[in-house]
Amino acid sequence: MMPPQVLVVEDAAANMKLAVLLLGKAGYSVLQADNAMDGIALAREHQPDLILMDIQLPGMDGLTATRLLKENEATRHIKVIALTAFAMKGDEEKMIAAGCDGYIAKPIQYRNFLAQVEKILGRLGGGKETP
Ligand code: MN
Repeated sequence: MMPPQVLVVEDAAANMKLAVLLLGKAGYSVLQADNAMDGIALAREHQPDLILMDIQLPGMDGLTATRLLKENEATRHIKVIALTAFAMKGDEEKMIAAGCDGYIAKPIQYRNFLAQVEKILGRLGGGKETP
């Protein structure tokens, strides 16, 4: 069975490194993009199961990118979790309005991070335990 594939769109190298490490250890196949345009192109080409989308990106921001993905027939089925450094009042509504299926607050905390990913992918209880 193919492992679920997760696309991470994140411009901060440290966050990207951590997300890729955690996802890889949990058995996911990981794709990476450091900007929205590359992320959208990878999503169309590879049809990942899930996209982790940083909200603050250089150029096109993550909410705009999510809106474009959700407006396109070829990519609208892909789940999107927003990665956000500051979830303030009203931000959750904005993320939902853009089409996000959930969000993870940064800094990334590994248990919560993987729990959110597994929840959205419906893998509850199916993931490997990391000691
Ligand atoms: Mn960023």
